[in-house]
Amino acid sequence: MEKRNDQGYKKADLGLANLRCQQCGHQALINQYHCFDMGLNPQWKEVLMKGEFFHWECPECGAKMELSYPCRYFDPEQRLSIALVPGLDVGGGQETKDRIASMNERLQDLGTPGFLHRAAGTFFAVQELVRLREEGLDDRIVQLLKPLIIGALQSEGLQVWNGFFVEVEDPESPEAQLRINAGKAQPPQGVIYISLEQNQNSIGQERIYWYDIHLTDRQILRRGINETAYHICRNMLLAGGTGDGESGETAAETAWDDGQFHLYDLNWAIDIHNQRNHR
Ligand SMILES: [Zn+2]
Repeated sequence: MEKRNDQGYKKADLGLANLRCQQCGHQALINQYHCFDMGLNPQWKEVLMKGEFFHWECPECGAKMELSYPCRYFDPEQRLSIALVPGLDVGGGQETKDRIASMNERLQDLGTPGFLHRAAGTFFAVQELVRLREEGLDDRIVQLLKPLIIGALQSEGLQVWNGFFVEVEDPESPEAQLRINAGKAQPPQGVIYISLEQNQNSIGQERIYWYDIHLTDRQILRRGINETAYHICRNMLLAGGTGDGESGETAAETAWDDGQFHLYDLNWAIDIHNQRNHR
């Protein structure tokens, strides 16, 4: 049995690290959590989801930073294993593919049979994966929705950094019911409504997928998109050619576990949309 300290976490999982403020150069010591193992420390899920530990504010100049460092999330109950590699999601294209390949080489002993393996570049992405798993959603479809929302914001002239899934709103929810009963078959504010038919009857009666969209000026906008869009993206994924490209594997083959950590992020989703538009 491994030694634990008073706080109940394994000592090896928590380390001190030096941090230098990017704005003023102030140096600080911060705690780094290296392994969020839900089997050992289930209470850490709350820490992760609250996220305060990775939002740092410089005590000297007030600059705000999001921390990112290599760590793992491991959840035996949800059968989810995530490797966080800072910056993995930056750039996209072949460079990212190479980085993922070398990461998988290094992590080949960390694969757990029957688990969903995901790579992430930020703690926001780790939080998102945990939420999606709990909602029972296919993270790839939820990623594919993002370019639709972000594209709409960009066409309004907004500079978007990224977006992360927050929750699904059910049409049976009290808020939705209130709208429907009030005869306002209107989507709530901030929702992109995609319709296949000219029939608008279902507006306000579909599930809505909500995201926090982060602008480059650190503003966060809550935006949603409807269930029809989700189905369109689902079909896009099932249409194939949506694997990691190189080996030409189909979506179905990468849907579950192959022991490799896969990165399905915004750049991946944009690539899929582009491939589809150029077909
Ligand atoms: Zn500072």
